[in-house]
Amino acid sequence: MLFDQVHSNPDVFEVRVPFENVSTSATNCFVVLDEGEALVIDTGAPTDEGAAVLEMALDELGVDRSRATFFLTHVHLDHAGLIDRVAPEGAPVLVSAADFDALRAPGASTYERVRRLLASEGVSLPEASGYARHSVEMPLFDPARVDVRFAAEGDEVAVGSRRFRVVEVPGHTPGSLALFDPVSRILFGGDHVLFVISPGIALFPDGRDGLQAYLDSLEKVRALGCSRLFAAHGDERADFEARIDWLRAHHLERLEEAQAIVRARPGLSGEEVVRAIKWNVPFERWEDISFMQRWCIVMEGLVFLNHLVGRGLVRREEDEAGVRRYF
Ligand SMILES: [Zn+2]
Repeated sequence: MLFDQVHSNPDVFEVRVPFENVSTSATNCFVVLDEGEALVIDTGAPTDEGAAVLEMALDELGVDRSRATFFLTHVHLDHAGLIDRVAPEGAPVLVSAADFDALRAPGASTYERVRRLLASEGVSLPEASGYARHSVEMPLFDPARVDVRFAAEGDEVAVGSRRFRVVEVPGHTPGSLALFDPVSRILFGGDHVLFVISPGIALFPDGRDGLQAYLDSLEKVRALGCSRLFAAHGDERADFEARIDWLRAHHLERLEEAQAIVRARPGLSGEEVVRAIKWNVPFERWEDISFMQRWCIVMEGLVFLNHLVGRGLVRREEDEAGVRRYF
């Protein structure tokens, strides 16, 4: 089966667009149909197989592409990667301004910014360069070909007679969006709340406290009183409120751990603190963890340190060599 109907009134169909990565094998894309109009929420990673699955599903659902709106919960490869293949020329593509900016940021400047930041956190130069290379998002779609519209908190997204409401849930990316139907109270959450993994939290390019933003976004979604939460990866689960509480507790625990490390060994560099945290990986030695996974860990660890510094729980000082040390 190419798709499943996961809700009626409004009619919502889930299409699992295949994509292999560490923790998941598909992106759950959702299609809302009403009065001949369609709203396509996320598209999936740019593979031939994925494009074929999504195209076929849209055909079988009878989606009139000229009456379809595309909504991106965030601009990551496995969400925005098929816009060029499935959205017709001039189609409305809704995205947050913050994520769109990241997409348009010149790769060289992102690379330099991240490389310099990582070096100042004590990461060796070759590793800092490697991690920085991973941090450069390739252009995921051609904005000139479609009608890019910025979506922000409280905006209405219409499909037929339905009116969905945009809910900003920054954290996983600086501009992550969710979409809420105030009538049925269903929520499309993107990667904000997942069961398969604890969603990664972005190191915000403007230095803002991404972890606090994420925790606030969890609180916000909890307070919506959703009837269902459709996540972009993994099977749907009814106990999403418990999951929100777990995610929050999980991050607070790790914060405490990082703080305890700094207290026990003051003067460590950022990278040293991050490496001392017990991450959920089946390796004892740092060198045994894959480069890709180390990159994720380092970036997320720095998000935690930013938060501790921002909250005044830890002090950050630069030494003579320009390396940031924590006390
Ligand atoms: Zn993502």
